[in-house]
Amino acid sequence: MVFLQYIGEIEKPMEQNASISIFDKGESAYDADEDFDFYIDKFYRDVNAFGLCPKKPSSIIIKFARLDQITNTAHVHAISYGKDNDSLIEIYINPSTWEKFNKPKRYFLMYHELAHDVLNLDDLDDTESNRGKLVYPAISTYERITMDDFIESYHALFEELVDN
Ligand SMILES: [Zn+2]
Repeated sequence: MVFLQYIGEIEKPMEQNASISIFDKGESAYDADEDFDFYIDKFYRDVNAFGLCPKKPSSIIIKFARLDQITNTAHVHAISYGKDNDSLIEIYINPSTWEKFNKPKRYFLMYHELAHDVLNLDDLDDTESNRGKLVYPAISTYERITMDDFIESYHALFEELVDN
C-alpha cells in the first residue's frame, strides 16, 4: 500500500476490505465530535446545483484516524477508500491536521476527499499551474486561502465536469 505524501490517498484502488485490517481493529480510528455529515450534505447540494447527480451511498464512514501513527509519516492528512466504489463513502481524517487547518482549509480538505470518493476523481499533477485547484494534491501547503478561494475552486471543478 502506498500513501501519497500530501493529502494521502492510496495510489491504486484498494482491494475490497483492505482498509478493514488497518482501521477496524480499534484504537487508530474513532468517531469525531465533528459534524462531518454537514460537509457531505453541503457537497451533495453543491454538485446537484451544477446538475451533477452522483448517487449517495447508504454506507458512509467518515472518521478521525491517527494516520501519521499508522503510516509513519507526518504528512498524511486524509485518505479516501471509497474511490471507484459508488456504494461506499469511506474517508479518514488526521485529527492533528483538522486541528491545524482553518475553516477554508477544512472545506478544501473535505471537498478534496469527497471529489475522490464520490466523483472518483484522481489528484492532479503536483505542478504550479494546478495550485489553487480543488484536486491539487498538496492542499496542506495552501497559505492564506479564503472561503472565496474554496468556493471558486469547487465551482471551477464542477463546471469542468458538467462540460465534459
Ligand atoms: Zn487527493
